[in-house]
Amino acid sequence: MSRLLFGSAGVPNSAQQNTSIAGIERVAELGLGCMEMEFVRGVHMGEKAALEVREVARKRKVALTAHAPYYVNLNAAEPAKIAASQQRILQTARIAALCGAESMVFHAGFYMGDPPSAVYETIKKNLIPVLEQLDKEGNMIWVRPEVTGKHTQFGDLEEVLRLSRELPRVAPCIDFAHWHRSHRARIAG
Ligand SMILES: [Zn+2]
Repeated sequence: MSRLLFGSAGVPNSAQQNTSIAGIERVAELGLGCMEMEFVRGVHMGEKAALEVREVARKRKVALTAHAPYYVNLNAAEPAKIAASQQRILQTARIAALCGAESMVFHAGFYMGDPPSAVYETIKKNLIPVLEQLDKEGNMIWVRPEVTGKHTQFGDLEEVLRLSRELPRVAPCIDFAHWHRSHRARIAG
């Protein structure tokens, strides 16, 4: 990517319909360069639809990213919840890659009252199998933990940067509004 792209989080309100394809068309009409597909309430797009999205995005030269479901907690106490979280990230990565997206973002988890240093190790440990599975599938997508900016939620700037340094194919997603909020909270508190 040779230039900074600007776009919308989700389908623009002014799109003809609330669909990814209508969203891409509208983003292109507005002269913008990218759109984040919101899979925040679950990945409800099938493979065939993803390939149609890919075609429209390619034609209209709109870069795509995807946001994984909110129900991800790689620091959950229950192994079943960890496994479900890993599946949600994988599912997002698979459909996003079929759409031609180069990146996907996710909220990695919650501290659950645990010490942040332990949470970091747990989240890293639970993210590694996801990355290995994507490698096996030949899926090259960038997996981006997002700066979340809430004190209950893992993902301050340092944690996100450290994961990106220590794990291959992981890169930061910096949400500047979230970062600003957490920074302000730290100064105030
Ligand atoms: Zn987010």
